[in-house]
Amino acid sequence: MKTFVKNRSSFSIALCFVCVATFAAAPEFFAQRRTNAGGRVLRAAENISGDRFEYQAVTPRGARILSVSRPHAETLRAIDEGLTQLFAVARKNNYRSRTNHSDYTIFIARPDRTQNRQGGYSPDIAVGAAQYAGGRYDQGGYVYAAGMVVALETCAFMIAEHNQNWSRVSDAVRFEGEHLVLYHNDPARFQATRDHSRGGGHPIMK
Ligand SMILES: [Zn+2]
Repeated sequence: MKTFVKNRSSFSIALCFVCVATFAAAPEFFAQRRTNAGGRVLRAAENISGDRFEYQAVTPRGARILSVSRPHAETLRAIDEGLTQLFAVARKNNYRSRTNHSDYTIFIARPDRTQNRQGGYSPDIAVGAAQYAGGRYDQGGYVYAAGMVVALETCAFMIAEHNQNWSRVSDAVRFEGEHLVLYHNDPARFQATRDHSRGGGHPIMK
């Protein structure tokens, strides 16, 4: 299992059953604009997962993908579908900012497990436990997440690579994206819902 020494102190994370959202503490961490996701945001993603994201793709609707291997066409469609669902519910809440597929960068990481405790197909990423340490999700210094936010300003998040169950990809995309839509449209609601360790989960927007 990988170590999290670097990240432990600089991240707080928010957990629900399908998602952990991580947010760097320092605002300058997110200073890069979206045109430079190859810089700090890429390094942040590499630090979180320990992976190298050597493949690039663009979904049919324009979301940017950085992945550990060539992404399945089904994965790209599932990502688009999750974002489409997200933007539809965002419009119902009168949120307009960052509601285009091209606003988003999604990292597809190598899963640290592919089965949950019940034996179900559940590709997840292990991340440092932070405030979940000692809690019910703690696996010994880390927790498993279907997805996590990588950068707020540039709208980047990470999911685990899937080979089946594409609807789970769409759900993870929609749920991670909720934090980013809220950050850019409703900061108070973002703050109130970012940390699932205090309760709450997804979907946030109805
Ligand atoms: Zn979440």
